[in-house]
Amino acid sequence: MKLFEHEGKQIFSQWGIPIPRGGAVQDIHDARWVAGQTGYPVVVKSQVLRGGRGKAGGVKFASGEAELDAGVKELLAMRLAGEPVETVLVEEKLNIASEFYMGVTLDPKNQLPLLMVSAQGGMDIEQVAKEFPHQVFKAHLHPLQKPGLHSMLDLLLKTGLRGKELVRAATVLLKLVHCYFDNNAITAEINPLVIDAEGNVIAADAKVEIDDNALFRVKAVAHFTRKEEVADPLEAEAKSMDISYVGLGGGNIGLIAGGAGLGMASMDMIAAHGGRPANFLDLGGDATMEKTARALRIVLKAPGVQGVLINLFGGINNCEQMAKGISQVVDDLKPSQAVVVKMRGHSQEEGWTILADKKIPVIKMGTTEEAVLLLLQEMNRQGVTVDGCTD
Ligand code: GDP
Ligand code: MN
Repeated sequence: MKLFEHEGKQIFSQWGIPIPRGGAVQDIHDARWVAGQTGYPVVVKSQVLRGGRGKAGGVKFASGEAELDAGVKELLAMRLAGEPVETVLVEEKLNIASEFYMGVTLDPKNQLPLLMVSAQGGMDIEQVAKEFPHQVFKAHLHPLQKPGLHSMLDLLLKTGLRGKELVRAATVLLKLVHCYFDNNAITAEINPLVIDAEGNVIAADAKVEIDDNALFRVKAVAHFTRKEEVADPLEAEAKSMDISYVGLGGGNIGLIAGGAGLGMASMDMIAAHGGRPANFLDLGGDATMEKTARALRIVLKAPGVQGVLINLFGGINNCEQMAKGISQVVDDLKPSQAVVVKMRGHSQEEGWTILADKKIPVIKMGTTEEAVLLLLQEMNRQGVTVDGCTD
């Protein structure tokens, strides 16, 4: 999960990294209140998840209330790369003497945390790396061992920092590393790290991304809510039943598989015979009659689906229960689409009998390829032409 700047700064602050005074607001009234607390001049920053806001006009300065009103109004009406601005961060304007970059990110090449610092702060670090490759200093971190202050000092010495600014920046960098590890971050970046006229070192921006797989245990982000953005309503319906469904858009063959591996193999086999999988669906290990029925209803609802392949294995799951779910839906909906089942395993005889009673074609001891070919044949009988069908 990517964090908004104000969320990242909240976490930075909890880990002891100095941030400007201010607050995130959603209207002019609250913006005025925050500015009243910090005093003018202030900076008003659009809260969107993409970077480069400065260049895109998403950061404004205000020396008084009239400018603040205008800035907040303008930003809240803006979209940055399609993302509407719903929140702005109002903060005391820093008196910038110099801008540095510091970040920790997961290096995909060797799967190690990578520390990067530069005296060329403020601009996009990818651009700095391209234009001034010798001014980005890097060090890999041990994945299990937090480093000490001395290694932060060693790295930052290369940027030219000296004296109390060096020590302050190294302390911030060490805190950033701790923040990165403690919160299971993939990226934790300060750009710019501002050194102000008095030599204070402050995080003027925050870019933090938390590993989605670790979100459940990262307490610091538990209260950051997000609107569910599920583009496909069928995915949302599947999710509510704990079914992992991914709509692929434009396919003609719906798929229900017992296991992710079997699902992927089935998709390959469908494609190998000229069909196009409309979805990926893994029924999982708790496939009750209800869950199987719901999965079939979802798959049949996807636009463009002309046939459904159900490829199941009864291990933990029970073939009889799954067959009952399938036959219930076929009874209810009387789908115009062809449905072919391959099912084997625990309680297979009972399952096959239920399917045979409903005249649902079933592959008993055959292969996935045979099931795909049978489905294509059935679809052909219904007048659907699929390339590669050898009927
Ligand atoms: P980004 O463009 O999305 O990375 O947004 P930043 O938060 O990094 O802001 C862009 C630029 O605005 C920074 O590099 C600074 O030069 C400037 N800026 C941001 N906050 C302040 C501030 O408090 N005071 C001053 N003088 N400049 C600021
Ligand atoms: Mn920035």
